[in-house]
Amino acid sequence: MNEREGQLRKILEHERRLGCADKAVIGGIDRYLDRLIEQNVFPPASPVGASIRALPRGGYASLGVEERARWLTQTIHLIDGQPGAAPLKAAPSPAREPAAAKKPRRPKASATAGDLSAPVTAVRGVRDALAVKFARLGVETVRDLLYFFPRRHNDFARIRPVAELVVGEEQTLVATVWSAAETTIGRRLRGTEALVGDATGTMRVVWFNQPYVAGQLKTNRQVVLAGKVTLFKGQKTMENPEYEPLEEELVHTGRLVPVYRSTSGLPPRTIRRVVKEALDSFADALAEPLPPEMLTRLRLTPLTTAVRQMHYPDGWERLEAARRRLAFDELLVIQLGVLVRRREWRERGLALPLPLPADVRRGFVGALPFTLTSAQEKALEQALADVAGERPMNRLLQGDVGSGKTVVAAASLLAAAASGRQGAMMAPTEILAEQHFRTLCGIFGCGDEKAPVAQVDAPYLARPLRIALLSGSLPAAEKRAVRESIAAGEIDIVVGTHAVIQGSVDFAGLALAVVDEQHRFGVMQRAALREKGVNPHLLVMTATPIPRTLALTLYGDLDISVIDEMPPGRKPVETRWVPPEGRDEAYAFVRERVGQGEQAFIICPLIEESETLTARAAAHEFERLRAEVFPDLRLGLLHGRLAAQKKDAVMRDFRDRRLDILVSTAVVEVGVDIPNATVMMVEGAERFGLAQLHQLRGRVGRSDAQSYCLLLSDSPSDEARERLQLMERTTDGFALAEADLRLRGPGEFFGTRQSGLPEFRAARLSDVRLIELAREEAARLLESDPDLQRPEHEALAREVAAAWERVTAEAH
Ligand code: ADP
Ligand code: MG
Repeated sequence: MNEREGQLRKILEHERRLGCADKAVIGGIDRYLDRLIEQNVFPPASPVGASIRALPRGGYASLGVEERARWLTQTIHLIDGQPGAAPLKAAPSPAREPAAAKKPRRPKASATAGDLSAPVTAVRGVRDALAVKFARLGVETVRDLLYFFPRRHNDFARIRPVAELVVGEEQTLVATVWSAAETTIGRRLRGTEALVGDATGTMRVVWFNQPYVAGQLKTNRQVVLAGKVTLFKGQKTMENPEYEPLEEELVHTGRLVPVYRSTSGLPPRTIRRVVKEALDSFADALAEPLPPEMLTRLRLTPLTTAVRQMHYPDGWERLEAARRRLAFDELLVIQLGVLVRRREWRERGLALPLPLPADVRRGFVGALPFTLTSAQEKALEQALADVAGERPMNRLLQGDVGSGKTVVAAASLLAAAASGRQGAMMAPTEILAEQHFRTLCGIFGCGDEKAPVAQVDAPYLARPLRIALLSGSLPAAEKRAVRESIAAGEIDIVVGTHAVIQGSVDFAGLALAVVDEQHRFGVMQRAALREKGVNPHLLVMTATPIPRTLALTLYGDLDISVIDEMPPGRKPVETRWVPPEGRDEAYAFVRERVGQGEQAFIICPLIEESETLTARAAAHEFERLRAEVFPDLRLGLLHGRLAAQKKDAVMRDFRDRRLDILVSTAVVEVGVDIPNATVMMVEGAERFGLAQLHQLRGRVGRSDAQSYCLLLSDSPSDEARERLQLMERTTDGFALAEADLRLRGPGEFFGTRQSGLPEFRAARLSDVRLIELAREEAARLLESDPDLQRPEHEALAREVAAAWERVTAEAH
């Protein structure tokens, strides 16, 4: 089965599970099939292709439910390579030829020029060898190329000579490299230092943490540098600028020249040439998805113009207008999808009501070793009211690290168990799953908490609770045994990673799923879970404080509860910004705490744009600390380039106190509870967002012991200093998140990859107004045309279907 077959199969399966209601794909099954036929994914001669084309003229939608079921089953069989059962009666009239039937084909000549899904080799001058390089950038089709927007533009219209550079501004400079060498900056950071100049003067340029830059700057060559100019010891200095060799002819164009993300063997010049060529011959073929009425009313740049302007803008304003238009498209598609999901979720069948009897609830709350905060009580009330109802719960529980979300999850899981049903709790990593397992065992009373299956004597229930930890690392035989118990209904609560639970586990009666740290999952992976149970209730938990508009985008289909209060008696983590000269003292402090039997984290700086570089820098720092600073202590290293198993092993070593200090990049698990760790030292703190620093700080301060957060920063700008001081002053995650959005803007907040959002090409999460506008427009559209079936919405429906068909397939 190839990828497209696999995808089709999943969608058809999904459709069958949804009762053949033509709900599996937004915009309808027929539209999806039309696309397959148009792209000739399944040629008429292939069995699957024939089966699709055998549908009557009215398509899948025109079939009755039983016929639909039969067609689905038959087509799935064909995908699986089995001969079709009773074939559907061959359609009488010219079988389905949807594209031709629905709209006239373009004349031949422009049909080739207009084929945006053609491979990039369709662009003049692009051979296979070049196509391979573009593929490395994720650019495979002509459309990809048109949407391969530049990272930024060099403003050749406003190049300033060295003497006229203004401190504090982003500027572009063309200069000659006088010297460039690897260097040590401050006391420890490796980097590159270069001296560049033009006729008006010379200037120092530094790249922190990027020693490799030195090798790329050839003496006496001219380079274009773009970045912020700062004052260092009274001298103008450029820090971490973007750089590239100068292409002489561009200087004379006097305009904004696009700078693209590049890869080895694909010089900027080539990318520019190919994109330009693609724009010239293909941009006119882009179909405008927005209805004309909307374009006019919202004064949006038409699509073709916007795409051209994104690459070669006639000025900054036109560029921003273009970006805004394209961002609107992306956000609108998301909002349409999210709103449709929300509607479906509401309309879709009933869930099993899971009422928690009052006496059980009293018993449970009374047996807790602490009193619930009022915020916890409220969230618990909302969750229990939800699960007691027939409409499936679909709730996001937000609460700062340590605010006590688990107990709300536990109460909901108890409701499932008390009703004789099953609940699942999923975490992003094995170690978090283990932690949840132990925490739950603790919350329900101290039973025998041996994994993989624990019997917990919850005195308020008539029988013991059975909790299973379904770990990927269990021996096969044991795993099978646990799975069998789950399938036999002998387990009340299953804890595991989402990969494990979404896999091949069969539940006897899954009625509730709890998902922890949701922002690490794909937005739509939730859908997969729903299909494990009849129609399970869903509780999603996250420690990331998300401002409202972001929540609208990320979790627009969920109800939201917030725990905005910390359990009493928590000692706030003492937070201090440490200037460079304080580093040795900070190390001494770490040593002192470790001497007391406590543990510490040391987080290495973030290197923008590259996880590999960040990992490499962390490994380097780890070696240095181990050899030079803490040779007598036990250090461990954690970074994003380690295999998942290795990561878990390191975290376990740290948790079980086989390590004193964990040197890590920012990947250190959200939610990991290591009460004995009391020091969080963050290097290069100015490079992290406030929300991220707050998350890191949340790794400590999880016991009665006083904890400390040391924020090191070698040369903070004024703005960075302001942020670090804010960290010292406030421990309120929401306040910090809002400030972060205000001070730094967008997805500094959390990267796209982490958030589970589709990758935006033009939109930014700080586009608060635009997000709200997209939301309003999506609602308005759906109100007038719930299934986007009007002809003027056809193009848009296609876009939505295309975006969501991918996500839907991934979610299965
Ligand atoms: P998070 O929201 O980060 O998941 P947890 O649920 O893990 O937080 O709770 C953090 C710690 O606080 C746990 O050790 C838990 O037992 C404790 N805790 C939770 N609620 C309260 C409370 N109301 N009073 C005191 N301690 C609490
Ligand atoms: Mg937690």
